[in-house]
Amino acid sequence: MAIAPDIERMFQARFDEYARTLDCVHCGLCIPYCPTHGVTGKEADSPRGRIYLMRGYAEDGKALSPGAEKHLLQCIVCRACETVCPSGISMGEMMESFRGALNRSRRWKGPGHLLARILLTHVLPYRDRIAAITDLLYLYQRSGLRRAVRAVLRLCSKRLSGIEDLQPEVPEPALRRIETDRERPQGYPAEGKARMRVALFLGCIASEWFAPVHRATIRVLQRNGCDVVVPHEQTCCGALHRHGGFLDEAGRLFDRNAEVFERARVDAVVVNAAGCGAALREPPHGSRRGLGAPARDVCELLEEIGIVAPDRPVEKRVAYHQPCHLVHGQRIGPQAVEGLLRQVPGLVLVPLRDSDRCCGAGGIYNLLHPEMAGPILEEKVRAVLESGAQVVATGNPGCAMQVRAGLLGAPGGRDIEVMHPVELLDRAYARASRPL
Ligand code: SF4
Ligand code: SF4
Repeated sequence: MAIAPDIERMFQARFDEYARTLDCVHCGLCIPYCPTHGVTGKEADSPRGRIYLMRGYAEDGKALSPGAEKHLLQCIVCRACETVCPSGISMGEMMESFRGALNRSRRWKGPGHLLARILLTHVLPYRDRIAAITDLLYLYQRSGLRRAVRAVLRLCSKRLSGIEDLQPEVPEPALRRIETDRERPQGYPAEGKARMRVALFLGCIASEWFAPVHRATIRVLQRNGCDVVVPHEQTCCGALHRHGGFLDEAGRLFDRNAEVFERARVDAVVVNAAGCGAALREPPHGSRRGLGAPARDVCELLEEIGIVAPDRPVEKRVAYHQPCHLVHGQRIGPQAVEGLLRQVPGLVLVPLRDSDRCCGAGGIYNLLHPEMAGPILEEKVRAVLESGAQVVATGNPGCAMQVRAGLLGAPGGRDIEVMHPVELLDRAYARASRPL
């Protein structure tokens, strides 16, 4: 659409992705793929409706009504609309930018915003603080207090009970702490001749809560000819910051990671969390530098280099749930992961209906918008139960926590395991039980 440059500049001063809103041709092809539109059925909760609202915000120059703002904040940023849009819209970037503009436009943004800022700026970038909090969680879970709290919450608040269920069982401290290059400067050497040298990205809460996945990732990479290093100075990827419009902090985190991984001199930065992988692949606005090596999803990399044939049977029916930030954010389809799992003897892949449909996790979306995330999760749980799977494989900690919490509340769901695909591979290598 033609528009006078000075007018466009004025609109962009209010919302710097304004020009991108003009890409939408209102065809509506995205609407059936949008999970939030599936819940409310409202145009304002669809990609097309949200683009219209963002464009109006820039053109009117007025504050959004609370109703319009709610519809924009209800976007999970799953990016399913990007995959199907014939005009190539970038909902992820538009939403980040819009939420950043919203944050800048107000002095007092409410207690939720304050809490989010504390969590995002004073907790997530610091692994030692996350470790201390996880130690307390471990005591809470193992002391029996959790069981009592759960029983009370089930009686008095479905919402709080759902939040409590999201918390995974944290591993004991000895199994949590991954040795970095501070304790282990030599890294984790490849078995046999090294084919490449890679750095493992640890993430924020995943560094503690999902340490078993990191250990499995290191073992599987070693088994397949990779020297693995774990730089100590790395930090959070900033995905949650971008999701919430905290763009300056996201830029600082990206730049810090870029310095650290450049110094590591590796062939690839391996990521086993889809949300982090998408954030590391796409530098935030204002950060022009890359990481010094490509960020690669662990399954994508293993599929590409070809794996040593696993030799220990894993006799399970496995359904693969595709994380949004892998399939839509990084455009890595199910073939990479399923191709690896097909090589595991005894493992049977079962189809999962709408496996690329969001589970409702969306970073901390499930905490902020439980009324939307709940029905989306219920649909995912129904699909898992229909599949007859004994294991759900998924490569994103947020999805793993969300699907596990949903299964806990479903009849027969407790017996279904939720695992990272790399954990299944690790089980399938006969020498997988060796300690790191
Ligand atoms: S598919 Fe793309 S162009 Fe069509 S309505 Fe949706 S966002 Fe607009
Ligand atoms: S990112 Fe997801 S939730 Fe947001 S508009 Fe697109 S499809 Fe809908």
